[in-house]
Amino acid sequence: MRRINELVAPHGLRGTSHRTGMNGPRKVHIKSFGCQMNVYDSHRMADTLAPEGFAETATPEDADLVILNTCHIREKAAEKVYSELGRMRVLKQAAARDGRRVVIAVAGCVAQAEGEEIIRRAPAVDLVVGPQSYHRLPALLARVGRGEGVVDTEFPVEDKFDLLAPPSRAATRARGVSAFVTVQEGCDKFCTFCVVPYTRGAEVSRPVAQVVAEVARLADAGVREITLIGQNVNAYHGDGPDGRPWTLGRLLERVAQVPGIARLRYTTSHPGDMEASLIAAHRDLPGLMPYLHLPVQSGSDRVLAAMNRRHTRADYLDTIARMRATRPDIAFSSDFIVGFPGERDDDFALTLSLVDEVGFAGAFSFKYSPRPGTPGAEMAEQVPEELKSDRLYRLQAAIDRNQASFNARCLGRSFDVLFEKPGRYPGQLVGRSPYLQPVQVMAAPSMVGEIAAVTITEISANSLFGTLADGPVRARPTLAAVEA
Ligand code: SF4
Repeated sequence: MRRINELVAPHGLRGTSHRTGMNGPRKVHIKSFGCQMNVYDSHRMADTLAPEGFAETATPEDADLVILNTCHIREKAAEKVYSELGRMRVLKQAAARDGRRVVIAVAGCVAQAEGEEIIRRAPAVDLVVGPQSYHRLPALLARVGRGEGVVDTEFPVEDKFDLLAPPSRAATRARGVSAFVTVQEGCDKFCTFCVVPYTRGAEVSRPVAQVVAEVARLADAGVREITLIGQNVNAYHGDGPDGRPWTLGRLLERVAQVPGIARLRYTTSHPGDMEASLIAAHRDLPGLMPYLHLPVQSGSDRVLAAMNRRHTRADYLDTIARMRATRPDIAFSSDFIVGFPGERDDDFALTLSLVDEVGFAGAFSFKYSPRPGTPGAEMAEQVPEELKSDRLYRLQAAIDRNQASFNARCLGRSFDVLFEKPGRYPGQLVGRSPYLQPVQVMAAPSMVGEIAAVTITEISANSLFGTLADGPVRARPTLAAVEA
């Protein structure tokens, strides 16, 4: 296959890098929007382009190839992409005046949803590539190099995970000691507000062996913490080595055995898929962190039914209770949508009461905004914008109060912190508690990648501050009393 560093050269300069000379490295800038799955995908695109001669750059002005890895979840997602593409067009024109060709690609869920419309509305775009086709990037860029405008939003039969290049050790190390691994894509739930089933398709799970091999490679390069990710991760049902589908609980148990991996997390989960083996994993695996993101969206059964969430408030609370009985120190975060069509004051009051009943350690909350093509967008009784804003304000106040209370209970306690990188001040490192709180500690730079016991001495709105506790490094969190 031709290397693509000759294919994105300016017309008439094919094979010659304008900036770096013959066969010099080309640069790719990937801008990631949205969730962790897009961050992971961006890394895998960079990994797949590296053998083709592309080095990553943090600045688009510097790049020969710019990829916008887009998200369709937020309001007016497509319009935001088009406005970003306006900036990219200016950048492309400036480069052309210097005799340099910049290729503009759009990837991610907006690419999947909009397809050819993107090139029609933004002719500066050379390539539109959907999330299932990233392994084809070299071939697609070759077509771009031949002057084609290329759109690939298919769901190919081949498994992209078999074909995406693995990261180099250097790239893995540069990304830090905590890594995401996609184990599942797509969703079969069809919540009436959500575009994921349309943009990412039906649920597909990676085989256990493939996941374990990727985790082992990451561990070998120094990664200590793995977050298994998927749009509906706890619906995981990948083929196990015994030829049968494995649950996420079994997969976690297997991944926990990979040497070097000290911490495990997973996200994002559906409450209806918290099955027995997954709950048991929280009891049996010391490395599985006691912090679960479990979106509920609303506290009202009427609204949950309209959202097609397939669970009730009581189901959700029952799951929380079973998790707490299994792992007493577990804490929860969640997602909420306010102002879903038909949401009344009494529905919203139930959402507020749920926040206090669970005592979330954190949560994301949004005003409902209709996504074209979803059933929610067609529903009558859309809630006025001012009412949504008022409810969001009140909900966030309740969430903040609960989060502050959770953090306050951490004060004076000691728990294990995984040190990730230097902090803001000299001699300081920043790490993560078992509950994903950033913790600032004065510690030697050599401790990056280590897990050590830290006593929390101070809390602020967004961080904890602590000192290294005396005694040996412990292998598991010790914040058992936080929920007491
Ligand atoms: S379960 Fe999550 S990803 Fe699936 S449709 Fe509902 S909100 Fe979207």
